[in-house]
Amino acid sequence: MSEETAPGFGTLTIHAGAQPDPTTGARTVPIYQTTAYAFNSTEHAAKLFALQEFGNIYTRIMNPTQGALEERVAALESGTAALAVASGHAAAMLTFHAIMRPGDNFIAADKLYGGNINQFNHSFKSFDWHVRWADALDPQAAKSLIDDKTKAIYIESLANPGGVITDLEGWAAVAKEAGIPLIVDNTMATPFLCKPIDFGADVVLHSMTKFMGGHGNSMGGVIVDGGSFDWSASGKYPMLSEPRPEYNGVVLHETFGNFAFAIACRVLGLRDLGPAIAPMNCFQILTGLETLHLRMERHCENALIVAKFLESHEAVSWVSYAGLEGDDNYAKHQKYMPKGAGSVFTFGLKGGHEAGVKLIESMKLFSHVANIGDTRSLAIHPASTTHSQLTDEQKIAAGASPDTVRLSIGIEDVKDIIADLDQAMKA
Ligand SMILES: *Cc1c(COP(=O)(O)O)cnc(C)c1O
Repeated sequence: MSEETAPGFGTLTIHAGAQPDPTTGARTVPIYQTTAYAFNSTEHAAKLFALQEFGNIYTRIMNPTQGALEERVAALESGTAALAVASGHAAAMLTFHAIMRPGDNFIAADKLYGGNINQFNHSFKSFDWHVRWADALDPQAAKSLIDDKTKAIYIESLANPGGVITDLEGWAAVAKEAGIPLIVDNTMATPFLCKPIDFGADVVLHSMTKFMGGHGNSMGGVIVDGGSFDWSASGKYPMLSEPRPEYNGVVLHETFGNFAFAIACRVLGLRDLGPAIAPMNCFQILTGLETLHLRMERHCENALIVAKFLESHEAVSWVSYAGLEGDDNYAKHQKYMPKGAGSVFTFGLKGGHEAGVKLIESMKLFSHVANIGDTRSLAIHPASTTHSQLTDEQKIAAGASPDTVRLSIGIEDVKDIIADLDQAMKA
């Protein structure tokens, strides 16, 4: 389809992956609350189990409500296929499970969600998978960290909580030169603001718990296959390039081509590790996605107004929001996500740690929660919560110094958001 006849983003958020139910005519995607699916015959069952035919087997591996969600997210991200899982963390886990062997390493940008920093530093180490931290702002410097056992590069498009926008093309060039995939966590930007695959990402991940679902009611994660990476070229990715004994010697990359990565995450990772998403959560996230384009517009519009208000406030020492013209990330915001710089950002209070805690306690409209990307405005003091398990050095590197307050600006009337901040700062 040409650009002109291809459906627009807002149309895809509502229609991609969903048709009226063929048996009942139900117009929204039903919640297929079932664990198993009847086979047509023993031959049919055998073919499904051998990956010779696509079809439903068991809800740990696939489910029709989940399938609709996967198709929709793949369409929104311009990927070849997607796999929805129980959480954003499960998406990262299954992605690395398909890529890493014991003793391997990967490069990760140092501006990341605190939960991923923990996951990489501690749990992954027990699998003998080793993270090598690189300066998020300097992809060239990461080259010296890459060796024969380096299997991937992992970055966030818009980094949580520091409001840093990474140079996607710069990172993609380093990954390409090294012959390894670029994995991008696009949770904070969503495909409405930025499609990392257009800038060279090979795999895109989301915590759909955040803006994708958007209403703070359902956990979910997703892996999107960009279809661009050659998993067979180097011999470094045996899960994809060598025969699978349990599937009669099928070679996943050979058989499934440009969506082999999504298949590997499903038929090996999800099958064996098990973090399946509930059909009900898929339904909630599908419903949330229908307004993604409208919500993101309002989130970004409100966030920019609030950031400007804070910038001129006497109690505030700094504001880090890529949408502000003077911000270090402004040029990258214009290049990679010109429709908006997201709605999560940080600012510093002149009163430091204590003032941060007091502000959070005085807020009335804002909720004090660990989440982001809700319709509601949310606030947190990262140094004492989400990033508390990190060392002081890691906190500062991750953009969570003691005076930092993180806001996730909701879609309420902006005058009410500002009034709440104003009264809390006076307190
Ligand atoms: C929340 C979050 C995650 C983890 O997702 P869960 O759904 O909480 O497991 C990963 N990356 C980013 C950027 C996040 O905000």
